Amino acid sequence: MAETSGTGERGGAAVLPSIDALAQDAALAGAIAAHGRTRVIAELRLSVAAAREGLRGAAAVDPVALRADILARVLREVDSGLSLKRVFNLTGTVLHTNLGRAPLAAEAVAAMADAAGASNIEYELESGGRGERDDHAARLIRELTGAEACVVVNNNAAAVLLALNSLARGKEVVVSRGELIEIGGAFRIPDVMARAGARLVEVGTTNRTHPGDFANAIGPRTAALMKVHPSNYAIAGFSSAVSEAELAGIAHSAGIPLIADLGSGSLVDLRRWGLPHEPLVQDVLAAGADLVTFSGDKLLGGPQAGIVVGRADLIAKLKKNPLKRALRVDKLIMAALVATLELYRDPERLAARLPGLRLLSRPADEIRGVAERMAGPLGAALEGVASVSVVDCASQIGSGSLPVDRMASFALRIEVVGPRKGSATRLADLAARLRALKVPVIGRVQEGALLLDCRCLEDEAGFVAQLARLRG
Ligand SMILES: *Cc1c(COP(=O)(O)O)cnc(C)c1O
Repeated sequence: MAETSGTGERGGAAVLPSIDALAQDAALAGAIAAHGRTRVIAELRLSVAAAREGLRGAAAVDPVALRADILARVLREVDSGLSLKRVFNLTGTVLHTNLGRAPLAAEAVAAMADAAGASNIEYELESGGRGERDDHAARLIRELTGAEACVVVNNNAAAVLLALNSLARGKEVVVSRGELIEIGGAFRIPDVMARAGARLVEVGTTNRTHPGDFANAIGPRTAALMKVHPSNYAIAGFSSAVSEAELAGIAHSAGIPLIADLGSGSLVDLRRWGLPHEPLVQDVLAAGADLVTFSGDKLLGGPQAGIVVGRADLIAKLKKNPLKRALRVDKLIMAALVATLELYRDPERLAARLPGLRLLSRPADEIRGVAERMAGPLGAALEGVASVSVVDCASQIGSGSLPVDRMASFALRIEVVGPRKGSATRLADLAARLRALKVPVIGRVQEGALLLDCRCLEDEAGFVAQLARLRG
């Protein structure tokens, strides 16, 4: 029986062709050969449904144009590749959470490919017995941070959850009011604390917390003191916080541990590359923190992961927690993490090999060169639609790291030509066309123009190659 697609409905929908009739159209023959009939029919159904939606209440409909639109949508969809794909991150935010945070090093990508089949993720090659998943990273993490032991989990939120649940379930944890932060994506310290089964004891005020505040809050039910790196905001002016070293002293004299959530953290001093200072994991450990948690895909520059380092007896408790099994990392992530950490053993070449650091420390002159080379081809592709100029701008690190700091950069500034009226809509349309490219180009709208910050543009040939598709 021929499948119809809404014939008989009133209004414009009456002109919708049947799925069967559309599937016979010669325009789809190539798509059916490449992707299979089932796939194309499924896409046809969606396209017809979208067309029906578009026709709701429409008076006059051109059936020829309608049919062409339905077919064009099918071809576009089957050709658009996977939903998750590479993009050009020209937003100026280098570690953009919505765009996948740290770009992985070639070494990490190769390691993932290598481990993708069967791998010794939990197998000891020497003894032929069962191995520990986290051991692959532990040796390197101990070497790089000086920690006794470590645990690797899905992300830093999981690391904090696991640490609190393992050490403080049913007990109290003392945190400064100035550090009860929300990271975004619904990670709020008080909520995570509650889910971990620990009771939050807030001390101090938003802007100032003193050592005595912590000492006075410690009681028989206190399991730990906690320090949280404010990451995505900064308190300036009349403010004071208690240092890790002071907190460790207070915690240890009460016989309890200090947990430090560093958020991003770093394993190398970024000032070496002209970047602002971010606390080092090894420094916080040396200051006396008993457990330190940090992300794998922020400044570390690796895959999404959460790392807990610190005292072996405490780490052993985390490893024994059944939550660890639910939060563990996959073999591909472990492979990428280990390969990323390996790069840190050769700090002289780190900025050349680790894309996150390379892009963050990219000299402004070099970025200007990229922008100047791209301005011609982009201007030509947008001729009559928009003007393109090279302007200076400021990039940021992103992922809540060093929120106040900006890095000098250069951007392609795209301004639509024509009347002022409707220019915002035309600019939004243009931004949408850039996002619809095979490798979507993501910029940011600022002061009536679309800025493409060239800091993260390394594949210049790939960028230029698809500009022709912008025309027409
Ligand atoms: C980013 C951040 C987190 C969450 O880390 P994810 O790896 O995104 O889960 C937790 N705490 C702090 C202080 C952070 O900056």
